[in-house]
Amino acid sequence: MKTVTHWIAGKPYGDVSDASGTWGPVTDPATGEVTTRVAMAGADEVDAAVAAAKEAYATWRTSPLAQRIAILFRYRALLDAHRDDIAALITAEQGKVHADALAEVARGLEIVELACGLGTALKGDTSTEVSSHVDVASVRQPLGVVVGISPFNFPAMIGMWMFPMAIACGNTFVHKPSSKAPSASILLAELAAEAGVPDGVLNIVQGDAVAVDALLDHPDVAAVSFVGSTPVARHVYGRACTGGKHVQALGGAKNHMLVLPDADLDAAAEAAVSAAYGSAGQRCMAVSVVVAVGSVGDPLVSRIAERAAKVRIGPGNDPASEMGPLVTKAHRDEVAQYVAGAAAQGADVVRRGFTVEGLENGHWMGISLLDKVSTDSDAYRNEIFGPVLCVLRAETYEEAMRIINGSRFGNAGSIFTRDGGAARRFQLDVETGMVGVNVPMPVPVGYHSFGGWKDSAFGDHRMYGSEAVHFYTRGKVITSRWPAPAETASGPDLGFPVS
Ligand code: NAD
Repeated sequence: MKTVTHWIAGKPYGDVSDASGTWGPVTDPATGEVTTRVAMAGADEVDAAVAAAKEAYATWRTSPLAQRIAILFRYRALLDAHRDDIAALITAEQGKVHADALAEVARGLEIVELACGLGTALKGDTSTEVSSHVDVASVRQPLGVVVGISPFNFPAMIGMWMFPMAIACGNTFVHKPSSKAPSASILLAELAAEAGVPDGVLNIVQGDAVAVDALLDHPDVAAVSFVGSTPVARHVYGRACTGGKHVQALGGAKNHMLVLPDADLDAAAEAAVSAAYGSAGQRCMAVSVVVAVGSVGDPLVSRIAERAAKVRIGPGNDPASEMGPLVTKAHRDEVAQYVAGAAAQGADVVRRGFTVEGLENGHWMGISLLDKVSTDSDAYRNEIFGPVLCVLRAETYEEAMRIINGSRFGNAGSIFTRDGGAARRFQLDVETGMVGVNVPMPVPVGYHSFGGWKDSAFGDHRMYGSEAVHFYTRGKVITSRWPAPAETASGPDLGFPVS
């Protein structure tokens, strides 16, 4: 069986031959077999990782920006050369199809590329001669040891949203990936070392809530970036804020797609199927609810059903597969429960997907489509995070918006229409942090920023884009006078300084 352990101070950490250590299982979602054991950090491993990061910070923070950028350029080239290897690890542990895993790596690479251009974003402001011989400069400085905690569904990309920007800003980093899909994080760290990232600048601790809580409470951790489910995001935000750290905590989602009667129905149905069932619905940007307005409901549902029936479900490493399994058996069973209970709560079950024939041992779940779902049903109120699409009906745009903005989640929302005025109104009305117009999954490009509203994100800062520079640094304003006061002094002045 393969072993995945921690990565601290530029090398694997811990005794991998220690059978009595704390290990967790990693399964291949396609077969249900345990393929790997992953080390589970306790307080000692967390202390070792934070100590390594703290020691490295002393020199990394003052290393020339040009040197950091040169390392990131080399890192970008190595990642590019290893796209397939990273994607294969993602598929083996998360289950998504290889093409989708490659797309995940590509979106992560975008942020490494952004970090390669950090010189412009880190540049400060200066005002000269604000008073006699006085200049004022605003600069931003790194924070220290930064922690990133990521979910199972993007084992490579979400770490890559965080550490390239954090370390480019001069911080050092401790990453705690999901124990369900830990291998990609180690390959990313090995490639970083090969690119020249000094020992201790990027560390990985494997584990679960025990490791997370030890990181949140650690006095030498200055900031925490979290992405995961809403209950854990809320916990992380509260606990780390109490300790005075910078915190950004992105949570779960229930993304709505509003379809107006004038929309191109074929395009809307294609978009709904791609965005609802891609990656088996295990994306925080997945469309999990379609709100069909007026007469569009019946024809839209029949088009979605027709296309959904053609999705090829199979192992992620088979190039013919379009949708893979769910990450664990427990998660698959939970998703199946929502579908099993939907009819009793008033939904029309248009398509019910349970175990896939011939693939019973893996964490397989077919495609489900629920129509006329009510807003008080479990399938609507909760994040299902599986291949289940709920359709709600509304008479008017206003009724649809009341439904959408009534959701406790506010990650993304999209509208499908040919009416520019309606699209513009939607952009202004919708209470989500990301908006799509005829785009079902509006994942912002790297130089914009990613983040939701309401229960989908806690904290003021979004991920990547210029917001990452603000999150991973703190401001300092320097007021200086030349010639120095001694040369111009005309006696003490106890008044408050004015120009
Ligand atoms: P999760 O919340 O269970 O786990 C996320 C991380 O927190 C993991 O590293 C995990 O080990 C750790 N963790 C789990 N339970 C914990 C606890 N009780 N205390 C402290 N730490 C804990 O999420 P997941 O199941 O790995 O991922 C799926 C969730 O992530 C979905 O809700 C999805 O919407 C969300 N997600 C959100 C975004 C976003 O950008 N908003 C992106 C991807 C995924």
